Amino acid sequence: MAESNPNTALPNAKIAIIGGSGLYSLFEEGAQEVEIQTKYGSPSDKISVGKINGKEVAFLPRHGIKHTIPPHKINYKANIEALAQLGVERIISTTAVGSLSADIDPGMFVFPDQFINFTHRSEETFFDGPEVAHISTADPYCDEIRSVAIDDSDTININYLDRATLVTINGPRFSTKSESKMFRSLGGDIINMTQYPEITLAREKAMCYFSIAIVTDYDSGLEGREDISPVTTDDVNKKFAESIKNLRLLLNSLAKDIPEKRSCTCSHVLDNAFMTKM
Ligand SMILES: [Zn+2]
Repeated sequence: MAESNPNTALPNAKIAIIGGSGLYSLFEEGAQEVEIQTKYGSPSDKISVGKINGKEVAFLPRHGIKHTIPPHKINYKANIEALAQLGVERIISTTAVGSLSADIDPGMFVFPDQFINFTHRSEETFFDGPEVAHISTADPYCDEIRSVAIDDSDTININYLDRATLVTINGPRFSTKSESKMFRSLGGDIINMTQYPEITLAREKAMCYFSIAIVTDYDSGLEGREDISPVTTDDVNKKFAESIKNLRLLLNSLAKDIPEKRSCTCSHVLDNAFMTKM
């Protein structure tokens, strides 16, 4: 599936971080910016490639460096294809999420292990035909990265939840109270607007995908808690900014501690997925 690359001499990085622009300072000196074009179009912005804690890491700002691309307008296929061209095998996603549960408080770091898709987006697969493949998403997140993240979070003393179900809605608006109630009743623990189809597209490239979800609010509120107001964009920005120090520490540790060679099952997801005999 490798594409011919119009951009000569691209740098190589096995780990990529997709997230907000507040993470540029993670890089040691000498990071370079690369502009990549794909057959699906342009990724959200230039991709920075440089060293974090001695490891070569790529960084892609999901909404563009100036946050000009809303969740439903992100070219997820171009983003994942561009990272594939850099040789990325593992994606660490950072995302602000709302809590659907009284037990999951703002400020907490959550490492989801399941998602429920409530988006309605058309560009959600690389297998649009004539090549047809059906990948398993029974366990869509990488458990090898999860176990490293748990150890590192314990060391840094981060308040985290090691598993949760993340509901992804289309956006850009937040949920109604009835929608939040429905998502809760379906088993959702946290909610955002960008996890899908980013996660499944990465999986279609046999990449590992792991998410650090930072709880910024209680979505549309909590039942029986009149003191909790529905989320605003200001709430999200304020709470995320408070968490950025710990997020930087965790990403820095992950870059160092994630094993060089993968021993998880993510790389084998395409082994039995193809229907088409090419
Ligand atoms: Zn993996």
